[in-house]
Amino acid sequence: MPKRKTHHEECDILVVGGGMAGTGATFEARHWGRDLKIICVEKANIDRSGAVAQGLYAINCYMGMQWNENQPEDHVRYARNDLMGLVREDLGYDMARHVDSTVHMFDEWGLPMMKNPKTGRYQREGKWQIMIHGESYKPIVAEAAKKSADKIYNRIMITHLLMDEKNENRVGGAVGFNMRTGDFYVFRAKTVIIAAGGASHIFKPRAVGEGMGRTWYAPWSNGSAYALPIEAGAKMTQMENRIVLCRFKDGYGPVGAYFLHLKTYTQNANGENYEKKWYEQTKKLVGEYIDHHPTPTCLRNHAFVQEVMAGRGPIQMVTKEAFQDPHLETIGWENFLGMTVGQAVVWASQNIDPKYTNPELTTSEPYVMGSHATCSGAWVSGPEDISPPEYYWGYNRMMTIQGLFGAGDTVGGSAHKFSSGSFTEGRLAAKAAVKYIGDQKAKDIKVSDKQCEDFKKIIYKPLENYTVGRNEITGGTVSPSYFSPIQGLQRLQKIMDEYVGGISVNYMTNENLLKKGLELLKWLEEDLEHVGAEDYHQLMRAWELKHRAITSQCVTEHTLFRKETRWPGYYYRGDYMKLDDENWHCLTVSRRDPKTGKFAMEKIPVYHIIGDEEKKKAS
Ligand SMILES: Cc1cc2nc3c(=O)[nH]c(=O)nc-3n(C[C@H](O)[C@H](O)[C@H](O)COP(=O)(O)OP(=O)(O)OC[C@H]3O[C@@H](n4cnc5c(N)ncnc54)[C@H](O)[C@@H]3O)c2cc1C
Repeated sequence: MPKRKTHHEECDILVVGGGMAGTGATFEARHWGRDLKIICVEKANIDRSGAVAQGLYAINCYMGMQWNENQPEDHVRYARNDLMGLVREDLGYDMARHVDSTVHMFDEWGLPMMKNPKTGRYQREGKWQIMIHGESYKPIVAEAAKKSADKIYNRIMITHLLMDEKNENRVGGAVGFNMRTGDFYVFRAKTVIIAAGGASHIFKPRAVGEGMGRTWYAPWSNGSAYALPIEAGAKMTQMENRIVLCRFKDGYGPVGAYFLHLKTYTQNANGENYEKKWYEQTKKLVGEYIDHHPTPTCLRNHAFVQEVMAGRGPIQMVTKEAFQDPHLETIGWENFLGMTVGQAVVWASQNIDPKYTNPELTTSEPYVMGSHATCSGAWVSGPEDISPPEYYWGYNRMMTIQGLFGAGDTVGGSAHKFSSGSFTEGRLAAKAAVKYIGDQKAKDIKVSDKQCEDFKKIIYKPLENYTVGRNEITGGTVSPSYFSPIQGLQRLQKIMDEYVGGISVNYMTNENLLKKGLELLKWLEEDLEHVGAEDYHQLMRAWELKHRAITSQCVTEHTLFRKETRWPGYYYRGDYMKLDDENWHCLTVSRRDPKTGKFAMEKIPVYHIIGDEEKKKAS
């Protein structure tokens, strides 16, 4: 094999992923750590990376405390309600109390914010959303990170964490490779903040072949945020809480502005309001949760899925009325310009003008996320002042591995952070990481050259598999001793889809299916040793696949552990179709033993720190 150059870097704070949370972490680390060496490593290029790469039309998390629009407590109640009671309220509250200051900085940095001409306040799209001209959102936050970091490394994929050899539960940095040059990179670091986004493409997507890659969630979000800590033995939480989105069919264009601003609504193929019809049935499954306001996202999905299964699809968004108003028509189209141009292209290709045709909606394949309307991710410490003892171990947003922090989609338990909340959480994690270093917790970390060299061999193995294995090909591309990343990905997606509750089974699974799924995932894990990569891009694909596979194992273990259907519309446990508050009003937490690869599961109480609105009024 060719000799590969190794680059060594030493730093105080290493930020893995330069999306919303990573740019927030990089920016804030400099504020508190003036003399620290701060490095951000990004798989793509931070100017246009992560879920916000194309821009956004709304900032979905803004309290508006300066105008007394909402308080952090209100946001906790909202997230708790939407997640059917199960969130880390300490984390949500902590994010919410700081998020406005983040948004005000975005405003200062030149992000074009829409203003309400009558009030002069930010233009609200909904209770929590404010509207922006957000095509340039990502370059703006990237600039803040670039000005703060000692160095930004683009095009480097982090594949493994380095661990301290004196204290096996302390992080010592990370390694990865440059996808353009193939060079190997070793980052020895006192603290690592993982901000690598969530996971798409672990379940089979609706668009295969003709439009593969066309998913709601960014195809480049490959679960590194979960795989890196899972492999190192960090605890994870609520990984079963995968997200399913209701969006415009095929282009996955956003529906929020349509519902909230254009006041469009949905109907079945017969022109009926179908949601009401499923009220009684849903009530039998989840009890009083169906009466909560607003209706939890999963329950709205549930009505959609059931209606389609009852044979009354397609479900449509009624746009024909709103689009008669030229102003709303413009907004409807502009909504896609800032973030999902592809939806307009899909409509053009299908001859859909929403002024004359009500476009179809669909429910997506499941994804794993910690910042949107679900809260999968790492089990982290909360803030000192409000977290109960079980949720607090010294440093805000630190995982169960010392010196390893998380933010954004990486962190579990705290949903509805969105772009602004993820940036905020990055800031919170960075502040805590600086304190950790200041408290001398990162002294004398030992990471030997051997540890790094061992990883180097592992990382480039897929190139070797290909180089050796291709000689056995006698015709075509079918190799007897290696397989390509795309073949492995499709195998993974099929397992997750059919056994763990994907689209082809209408999100249904059960204990037998999950156990079989775990068995098949184990065989896949074994076979992944034989994945082959013909170039550096395929090497990235190989590692994306490996990260997706371990994330999938964790999702499946969690789904097996929770014996109830907590979020109908996200997935169903056919053997436990009802929500079971008596036994499962708790958070699920897992740990994979790095030595044996076995997962151990536990229940941890969910503490309701913030009172109900009604009780507050009464007291
Ligand atoms: C389709 C969609 C629409 C959304 N709409 C809105 C909206 O309208 N308003 C709103 O406020 N929020 C919205 N959000 C939510 C918002 O985008 C996320 O909450 C936010 O981006 C999460 O931040 P993050 O840093 O965790 O992940 P990301 O911003 O996705 O960043 C993760 C980064 O990590 C990098 N990375 C991944 N793996 C590695 C690795 N192994 N090594 C190095 N780097 C790596 C990625 O390239 C990426 O840059 C939307 C999200 C999606 C998916």
